[in-house]
Amino acid sequence: MAVLEILKYPDPLLKKRSEKVERIDEGVKRLIQDMKETMYYSSGIGLAAPQVGVLLRIVVMDVSPLDPKHDFFAIINPEIVSEEGEIEHEEGCLSVPDCQEKVKRREKILVRGMSLEGSEIEVGGEGIVAIALQHEIDHLNGTVILDRISRLKREIYRNKLKKERRKEETP
Ligand SMILES: [Zn+2]
Repeated sequence: MAVLEILKYPDPLLKKRSEKVERIDEGVKRLIQDMKETMYYSSGIGLAAPQVGVLLRIVVMDVSPLDPKHDFFAIINPEIVSEEGEIEHEEGCLSVPDCQEKVKRREKILVRGMSLEGSEIEVGGEGIVAIALQHEIDHLNGTVILDRISRLKREIYRNKLKKERRKEETP
């Protein structure tokens, strides 16, 4: 297993749509193990493959620190099959450091996909697991939280990034 590098905004790969996994081979299995290790190492509750530079529809998640009803799972080719309600919640993202913004999501969702063993699985529920799943599925479609907040807030974040970069360049 290995801790992988997490791509940071504005890396262009974060804007790309990921492809469906056609075959769960050794490479996919290894990737999922590495994503799991990377997520725990970074103290995240979810991670999508494009965040580690692989444009495949794979998500790993463990929201148990916030909701003990849901522990670790990996889901391949996840698709939302039902959704209900609305909720607004402050989200962060390992690919968008120092950004905590309120994002509107569905309150309850059901997601269908494949397990590592290739069998059909359903995951979901309400609250944090629903929010995290929508956040990670967004990544598979090239969307980050900055795309879900106001233009003004997005500009403020971009300017902050630019300033920090300038600081790094001038020692
Ligand atoms: Zn994220």
